[in-house]
Amino acid sequence: MNFENTIAFAKSLDQSDTLASFQNQFHFPAHAGKKAIYFCGNSLGLQPKSTRAFIENELRDWESMGVKGHTKPEKPWVSFHELLAKNMGDVVGAKPDEVVMMNSLTTNLHLMMVSFYRPKGKRTKIVIEGGAFPSDQYAVKSQLDFHGLDPKDHLIELTPRKGENLLRTEDIVATINQHGESIALVIPAGVNYLTGQLYDLQAITKAAKACGACVGFDLAHAVGNVPLKLHDWGVDFAVWCSYKYLNSGPGGIAGCFMHESHSLKKLPRFEGWWGHNKEKRFAMGPNFEAIGGVESWQLSNPPIFQLASAQASLELFAQAGIENLRKKSLLLTGFLEFLMEKIPHSRYEIITPKNPIERGAQLSIKVHGSATALLDKLDEKGIICDFREPDIIRVAPAPLYNSFSEVFLFAEILRETLD
Ligand SMILES: *Cc1c(COP(=O)(O)O)cnc(C)c1O
Repeated sequence: MNFENTIAFAKSLDQSDTLASFQNQFHFPAHAGKKAIYFCGNSLGLQPKSTRAFIENELRDWESMGVKGHTKPEKPWVSFHELLAKNMGDVVGAKPDEVVMMNSLTTNLHLMMVSFYRPKGKRTKIVIEGGAFPSDQYAVKSQLDFHGLDPKDHLIELTPRKGENLLRTEDIVATINQHGESIALVIPAGVNYLTGQLYDLQAITKAAKACGACVGFDLAHAVGNVPLKLHDWGVDFAVWCSYKYLNSGPGGIAGCFMHESHSLKKLPRFEGWWGHNKEKRFAMGPNFEAIGGVESWQLSNPPIFQLASAQASLELFAQAGIENLRKKSLLLTGFLEFLMEKIPHSRYEIITPKNPIERGAQLSIKVHGSATALLDKLDEKGIICDFREPDIIRVAPAPLYNSFSEVFLFAEILRETLD
C-alpha cells in the first residue's frame, strides 16, 4: 500500500477497517479527559468491557452455590478450562486437546522442560537466543544446574553477527546443524521481547527435528500477535502468557501446547491431581492415571476468575479472527514505520526488522540520548508505551483495539517532542 502522511489518509484507513468496531469493546486509560494512546498491549493488554461480566458470573455462582459451583452451574468449575481450548487452539494453530490454560508462563516453561529437556549421553545442550527475556534465561540455566550441567558448556546462545542487532535465520539453522547431535533442546522465543523480531519458527523447528532435538517456543510476544501453526509445524511444545496481546489481565492464566504426537507417550513429568483421569479424580486413589495429552500436565485446580477473564478475551479473538488481525496489523505497523521514517531522526533508530514477515505489531526504537526523558515527555502528552533497559522504547499498536488515527497522532506527537 502507498501510505500518505495525512490525518485524512489515516481516517480513510480507519473507515475501511473491518475490525474498527472492536475498539469500542475495550476500556482505555484516560489522559486529560481523553482516551490515552495506548501502544503497550505487548506488555499488558487492555481490559475488554466484557471481562467484568465474565468474572462477575463466577462470583455469583460462588455466592449462590458455594462448593456446588464445581459441578452445578452452566459453566462448572471442574471443567471450566475446557471452554477455552477451542478458541485458544485457533489462536496458536493447535487442536483443542493440544492446548491447556494453566499456571503462569515461567511455571509452564519449567514443567515442559522437565519433560522435554532430558540430557543423555552426548545430547545435553540447550539452544536459546542470546539476550532472551530474563525469566527464560533463569529457567533454562536452573534446569541445566538441576541436571548438574554447567551452562558455560551446555548452553548455546544465538547471537547476531558483529555490528547487527538481529538474528539471521540462516545463522540460527547453521548453529543448530553445527552442534547437531549434542543438542537436546532448542527453545527460543517466537517474537523477541526487546527487538520485536519474529523468528522463522517453521525453519527452526525443521532444523531442530532434523538433528534429533526437541523444540519448544516461548510465545509470550507472539501469541495473539501473529498467526501460528504449532500443530502443522510439528513443534513439540510451546508456552505463553495471556496478559500481553491476549488481554486477560495482570498475572493472567498462561497457556501450554504439546503436540498430539506425544499424547500417548509416557513422558517423565511432574504430576498433580488435576492431570488425573477426570472420571476417577474424586475417587482419590493413590496412583496417578493421566488424562492423556497436555491436560495431564495440570497440577492444581485452576484459578476460575483468571480463566473467566481469559475466556472473555478469547471470545473477541474468535470473533475477529487471528488472520484478519494479522492483516490489519501489517498495515497498522507498516503505517507507523512509514510515518516514523518521515521524522528527521538523528535521535533514534528503529531496530525491529524492516521486513514485515519478520516482525509482529511492535516497533522497537533505540534512542540515542535519554530514552526515559523521551518516554516521560510522551507520557505527559497521553502516550503510553514502554521502556526497556538500556535504551529501547517499544511501541506496539494492537490491531484489536488501536486505530490508524492513533498511529498518526502518535507520530505527530513524537515529531513535536523531538523538535
Ligand atoms: C512476559 C514474558 C515473561 C513473563 O513471565 P511470567 O512467568 O508470566 O511472569 C517470560 N518470558 C517472556 C519471553 C516474556 O515476554
